[in-house]
Amino acid sequence: MKDNTSMFFLEQKDIPSTWYNILPDLPEPLPEVLHPGTGKPVTPDDLAPLFPMELIMQEFSPERFIEIPEEVQAVYRIWRPTVLHRAFALEKALDTPAKIFYKYEGTSPAGSHKPNTAVAQAYYNKKEGIKRIATETGAGQWGSSLAMGCAFFGIELKVYMVGISYRQKPYRRLMMETWGATCVPSPSPDTKAGRDMLAKDPDCPGSLGLAISEAVEDALSRDDTHYSLGSVLNHVLLHQTVIGLESKKQMEMAGEYPDIIIGCVGGGSNFGGMLIPFVKDKIAGDKPDLRIICVEPTSCPTLTRGPYAYDFGDVAGLTPLLKMYTLGHGFMPPPVHAGGLRYHGMAPIICHLLKLGLIEATAVHQLATFEAGITFARTEGIISAPETNHAIRVTIEEALKCRQSGEAKTILLAHSGHGHFDMAAYESYLSGKLTDYEYPEEKVREALDSLPRF
Ligand SMILES: *Cc1c(COP(=O)(O)O)cnc(C)c1O
Repeated sequence: MKDNTSMFFLEQKDIPSTWYNILPDLPEPLPEVLHPGTGKPVTPDDLAPLFPMELIMQEFSPERFIEIPEEVQAVYRIWRPTVLHRAFALEKALDTPAKIFYKYEGTSPAGSHKPNTAVAQAYYNKKEGIKRIATETGAGQWGSSLAMGCAFFGIELKVYMVGISYRQKPYRRLMMETWGATCVPSPSPDTKAGRDMLAKDPDCPGSLGLAISEAVEDALSRDDTHYSLGSVLNHVLLHQTVIGLESKKQMEMAGEYPDIIIGCVGGGSNFGGMLIPFVKDKIAGDKPDLRIICVEPTSCPTLTRGPYAYDFGDVAGLTPLLKMYTLGHGFMPPPVHAGGLRYHGMAPIICHLLKLGLIEATAVHQLATFEAGITFARTEGIISAPETNHAIRVTIEEALKCRQSGEAKTILLAHSGHGHFDMAAYESYLSGKLTDYEYPEEKVREALDSLPRF
């Protein structure tokens, strides 16, 4: 009899009780993080004004498994474990022998994977006695997730939201306010970085890099305030490994191991969290043929076209220097709708794995991603975030290759969230107003010129 099970459920007791840290298992150590002033490796004390010490320790930890505090597990239990689905309807529509699975993170209260780290970060700040956090947000996914996390642990939150999104996405702002946070458009008059930009260009649409400068400056200016980042950093990817750890168990329940894993990358956190527990098997030599594909937009082609170099995480150059593929910290993104994928840099862990040839990267055009998102909605039902549509596009391409070759490959898609607050983007697509955008070559060269020298 054909097995038609399409949802794989774990029980609450199967939520991982530890996160998996890849650092001790990397075949070569991750390049060091450098101090922006001295160019020397940063010390935990350098980072203490920004983050609680437990998160700083996680950032550099040599421990393979890190306990998830019971208080964090209790919050995870509101929506975890998330379900692994088999996409039978999509497979049928594509007429492919491929088996497509997707791990769906859109059932969290904020609608994406981001609460997995937001809750942990709020918890560690609370534990250290911090009263207030400053952060940035692009499309509003991160700001709303952290607003929820801060509400659970009684912390005040100020969010600097990329100006163009603040104006285009009032509902994400209202979610933040509902959970008790304050949200201002960036550039704002509240910080020097914001005021300097407003003086130069009063109509500046803002960027993630600029909003980070504002939030970091805010945190450095007050003793009761820390900064929080929703992607890129090692501790963020660590917290997101709940996705991959659960998926591994669920793939076992399905009697499968993926041939290909596909996810979208903005700063690299959702896909990092998915791929890290699997790339471990590839590093160990157990799964040499496993393919892991990172998908980014052609309008922000960090991994596929950026140089691999030390750069700042923000426009003003306040953050430590990270070795990453980068489009330059001065990057002002073109107005594509996948707001969460418009960051100039990328998680150092993802960059390192790419450099070592353990994972691959590809870029896709915006129109093709929406076309794929519509196919997914009309088969599997879920209206996906524009970011996720990038991964869906490549999943469909790989499944169609299987139709050509007749191979029944197993594909695992990291589905990062729903698109219920992105319907304006769907409207643009459906009314034919959306266009493709290729990042110009001279901009890549400009980025190289803007890299810090030391
Ligand atoms: C923020 C976001 C992303 C991109 O961020 P990563 O850190 O690369 O995961 C992708 N999908 C959704 C739904 C998001 O909200």
